[in-house]
Amino acid sequence: MSETFDKTRDFKSLGLRDSVLKGIEKMGFEHPSDIQAELIPVILSGKDVIGQAKTGTGKTAAFSLPLLHAVEKNAPMSALILTPTRELATQITSEIDQLGEFTPIKATCIIGGESMRKQKKSVEDGAQIIVGTPGRIMDLYGRKQIHFNNLKFAVLDEVDRMLDIGFRDDIKNILSKIKNEHQTVFVSATMDAAIERLARTFMQEDAEKVTTISGSLTVEMVDQKYIHVQPWDKRRLLMHILKNEKPEMTVVFCKTKATVHKITQYLRDKKVGVREIHGDLRQTKRNRVMDSMRKGHVDVLVASDLAARGLDVEHITHVINYDLPEDPEIYVHRIGRTARAGRRGFAWSFVTPEQGQLLTNIEILSGAHIEKLDYDGFEPGPVPKDVREQQEREDRIQRQREADKVRTGPRSLDGLSEDQLSAMFPGGKIPSGAGNKRSGGRLRSKRRR
Ligand code: ADP
Repeated sequence: MSETFDKTRDFKSLGLRDSVLKGIEKMGFEHPSDIQAELIPVILSGKDVIGQAKTGTGKTAAFSLPLLHAVEKNAPMSALILTPTRELATQITSEIDQLGEFTPIKATCIIGGESMRKQKKSVEDGAQIIVGTPGRIMDLYGRKQIHFNNLKFAVLDEVDRMLDIGFRDDIKNILSKIKNEHQTVFVSATMDAAIERLARTFMQEDAEKVTTISGSLTVEMVDQKYIHVQPWDKRRLLMHILKNEKPEMTVVFCKTKATVHKITQYLRDKKVGVREIHGDLRQTKRNRVMDSMRKGHVDVLVASDLAARGLDVEHITHVINYDLPEDPEIYVHRIGRTARAGRRGFAWSFVTPEQGQLLTNIEILSGAHIEKLDYDGFEPGPVPKDVREQQEREDRIQRQREADKVRTGPRSLDGLSEDQLSAMFPGGKIPSGAGNKRSGGRLRSKRRR
C-alpha cells in the first residue's frame, strides 16, 4: 500500500474544485496515489508534462481529474485523450464519467468497430473530452465530424506504445493538426530514453517530467515467479495451477491469436469458465467479454497482448504468461493487470529451456528479480513422439555432417576434437603446418615460406 499511496496527502490540497472532489469521494478514493499527488498540480499549473508511474497506480485519474477541473462547460472538444486500444479508451471514458458525475463535463469514446453515427451524435451533443483510438479519430476528423479548433489539452496514454512504429505516423498526423495553443500530457509505465526524446519533440521546451518510479518498474505487491516447463507440458501445467490455486480471476497471456484460441478451447473442454480476447474478434464480442470480466462472470481470460496495457479489472488475482513476451516492456504491462491499487497479485511466467536469455532481459528491464517456482505436485510428461522423432532427425543430420567433415577434410584443423583429429590421421602424426590459428586455416606451401 505504502508504495502507491501516501496517506498523509489528500485530494483537497491538490487544488481541485468541489464538484470534482465530490466525484472522487463517490468513487471511494481516500488519498491520492503518488502519481496523482505529483502530476495533478503540474497539469493544473498549465505546463506540458510527461508522467511515469508503475502499472495500477492510478494514472487515469491523475490526468483525468485536472481535465475535469479545467475544461469549460461550453467548450466542446476541448480535450483529446488517445489510447492504443479500444478497450482502454472505453475504460477511460467510463472513469471520467464517474469521476465527473458532479461536473457538467462529459467524455465521449471514439473507437473503431462501433457505430460512427452514435459517436457523431455524442460529439454534437457537446462532449468536452474526446477519448479514442488514433484510426477512428483520424477518420472522423477527415469527415469533418470532429475538429481540434478548441483543443486545449492533448493527452497520450501509454505514450511509448503510441509513439512506437505502429502508431507513430498517426499520432504525428493528429498532433500536427492541433493549431490551437494547448497543453500536452503524456503518461506511461514504461518509457525508454529514445521515446522520451521523441515525446519531447511534441512538447514545449520547458516540459516537466514527473516520475514516481524508483527501483523496479513493477509493484512490490505482485509476486513474480517463473516456472520451468517443456513446451509440451504447458497446457497441463496451466490446468494443474488453475485446479490447485482456485484463483478468483486469472488472465493467461499467449503470443498468438491461434494459441489464445487453442488454449481457450482446451480449458473449455475441461469445464473452466473461460473467455478469450484478441484482435480478430468483432468489437461487440470484445465488449461482451470485457463486460463479463468486470461483472466477475469469468474465471479465466485467455488474451493476446491486446489486453496487456491499461486494462483495469478488479480482482485479477493471477496473471500467467503462458508464452513469455519477446519485448520486456510488454511483460511489465501484462503483469500490471494484477496487484492494482495496492492489492496483492501473482504473476507467473512459463519459461521453456531455450528462453533463459528472454527471462534475463525481462529482469534487466523491469529491475525485478524473478525467482523460480517449482509448482507442487506437477509431474512433467514424457517427450511427445513427434518431438522425439524431430530430435532424432536433427541428431542424425548432425552426426552425418561430422562424418562428412572427417571424410572430405576440413578447411582448417582448428576447433576439431582429439577424436576427430585421430580419426583423420590414424597414424597419429598431425601435419604441423596445417591450419594453425595464425594462418587463418589456410594451408601454406613450404615453397612460399
Ligand atoms: P494505471 O493507469 O496507473 O495502470 P489506473 O488508473 O487504471 O492505473 O488505476 C488503477 C485502479 O486504481 C483503478 O481501479 C482506479 O479506480 C483505482 N484508483 C485510482 N486512484 C485511486 C485512489 N486515489 N485511491 C484508490 N483507488 C484508486
